[in-house]
Amino acid sequence: MQSLWGATATPVFTLPELRGSARAQVLIIGGGYTGLSAALHLCESGVDVVVVEAAQLGEGGSGLNGGQVIPGVKHDPDKLEQMFGAGLGAQLVETVGSGPDLVFGLIEKYQIDCEATRSGWIQPATSESALAAIDARVEQWRRRGAPVELLDRHQVSRLIGSERYCGGWLDRRGGTLQPRSFLFGLALAVERLGGRIFTRSAAVRLERAGGQWRIQTSRGQVSAPAAVLATDAYTGNLVDALRRTVIAVPSFQVATEPLPEALRQTILPQRQAVSDTWHLLRYFRLSADGRLVMGSRGFFGNTPVATAARHHYRAVQEIFPQLQGVRYDYHWGGLVAMTSDHLPHLHELGPGLLAGLGYNGRGVAMATVMGRLLARRILGVSAEELGFPATAVRPIPLHRFSQIGVRLAIEYLQLLAGLARARERFAGRRGVA
Ligand SMILES: Cc1cc2nc3c(=O)[nH]c(=O)nc-3n(C[C@H](O)[C@H](O)[C@H](O)COP(=O)(O)OP(=O)(O)OC[C@H]3O[C@@H](n4cnc5c(N)ncnc54)[C@H](O)[C@@H]3O)c2cc1C
Repeated sequence: MQSLWGATATPVFTLPELRGSARAQVLIIGGGYTGLSAALHLCESGVDVVVVEAAQLGEGGSGLNGGQVIPGVKHDPDKLEQMFGAGLGAQLVETVGSGPDLVFGLIEKYQIDCEATRSGWIQPATSESALAAIDARVEQWRRRGAPVELLDRHQVSRLIGSERYCGGWLDRRGGTLQPRSFLFGLALAVERLGGRIFTRSAAVRLERAGGQWRIQTSRGQVSAPAAVLATDAYTGNLVDALRRTVIAVPSFQVATEPLPEALRQTILPQRQAVSDTWHLLRYFRLSADGRLVMGSRGFFGNTPVATAARHHYRAVQEIFPQLQGVRYDYHWGGLVAMTSDHLPHLHELGPGLLAGLGYNGRGVAMATVMGRLLARRILGVSAEELGFPATAVRPIPLHRFSQIGVRLAIEYLQLLAGLARARERFAGRRGVA
């Protein structure tokens, strides 16, 4: 399954495998946005960094995602302030809301060629109750000075090119990018500043000896006084309790052929990123070459790829009936790390050992922010000044079963979505509005 991003990413460059022994001031495990943003911010301060990545760059979430740069986290600003108190809560709102500024700022600073478009992010509502929640969300962000606006049914329809939604909101902080090119651009910037990145170099053991953290890969080892775990949904049992703090949920995407110019004038003519409020969340955007890229929750285990793809083709038809008969050129999937409180987590696991993960499907901006937070913490910024809580590692109770529970929940939601579609078709045949 080749992804659209794998086929079109720039620049193409290969990185070596770790062989022999290396030393660094900071060792980073995982070469996605979290790991490379941490590496870049450390390199900017003159710190000697080694990153080890188990696969090739881009084979984790950072090379596979929808490329939607989304501000904030799942919880609304008022809720974050309730959860963390007025002081830390307000800092947290500021930190998560400014994620897109960091992403687009790095793209500008390092001249990263990644089809970046800061056209905004739309969340359209599939029901009146979802629209009521959006109304409150817009009011809360507006109170904090964010460039957001409520959209009525007609405005959403004009911006998206679909009659499917009853309203929504536009957050002008967001946008889109080519996710793998953004990742490669970060890697290039790290290398230019003297950081070392090794691929096909999975850390298979992590231990502490003589005041250093040491990892072992199949052909080498690295030791450093400080280390960062940046493995998100791909977290293995290097620190087993950490693996059990997230549930890895599959997400799947399809990309059409480039759409004819006439359709590009009506479908997302201003090129916003969109994630709707449907039970299973559907997210879509146009690529730079005018393809519709649509994603949703994926399928577990041995579900044939064709089944997952068909499910997505139906979603495209439902939202954009004008795309009847369109050809699909790509489909691919990856894993999203969900947490039980729907928040990303920064953990301090031991002396100089940090971890950042759990972006709940909003990692393009948030993982980049987390990388900077991790770097700042290593550089000596106090926990109070950081603007983000460091939380204890709390494995999800009965983690093994929760993975099964999520699978059942997703299958149940897919069943509900199927029933809703059947009901709509039936109502349509009987001429019911
Ligand atoms: C299909 C899909 C669509 C998504 N769409 C969006 C979107 O549109 N917008 C958005 O904001 N977010 C989206 N996300 C989420 C986003 O991609 C992730 O939150 C983000 O990429 C996480 O970055 P990361 O660096 O923490 O983890 P990753 O990019 O997953 O990187 C972790 C890396 O750690 C490596 N690793 C694991 N174990 C080891 C080890 N022992 N040794 C060495 N390396 C190791 C893995 O190989 C992996 O490359 C999507 C995710 C998926 C899968």
